[in-house]
Amino acid sequence: MEIKQPKLVCLEGENKCPYRWSTGEMVGAFLTALRDHQKIMGGVCTGCGAVIVPPSSYCETCSSPVEEMREVGPRGVVMSWARVPEPFIDAPLPAPFRYVLVRLAGSDTSMVHVAPDDDNVRVGAILIPEFREERRGSITDIKWFVPEGSQGDG
Ligand SMILES: [Zn+2]
Repeated sequence: MEIKQPKLVCLEGENKCPYRWSTGEMVGAFLTALRDHQKIMGGVCTGCGAVIVPPSSYCETCSSPVEEMREVGPRGVVMSWARVPEPFIDAPLPAPFRYVLVRLAGSDTSMVHVAPDDDNVRVGAILIPEFREERRGSITDIKWFVPEGSQGDG
């Protein structure tokens, strides 16, 4: 007996799903500090004492709760970077720019952010955050990190 494979039926469409989600206590405090005080806060692990930026509710290293906040930075060192030479959909900045992995002073973790396409943005360089004038409680309230001593270009 011959078994025929079913013919696949494909429907095309587009889903749009507006949503809101709670940031949780730690990330909420982190975003509020960015928006209202232009300060970067890390979470302190109750188990190993690691300062985690951006903070999470639990430590990724030892799984202990993270229950208090501590200010970090604003200076940070570039741990790694990647140049983005071409534009892409939903890019955070017009190309070219750089993604950077920044370890802020007083932090035990690094965070991903963006920087201008500047040859002074390299491993070991010291960067400082440039905050947007209008902030809304988002990681993008930090426009980008620029080399210390430069003014950025807008
Ligand atoms: Zn820990």
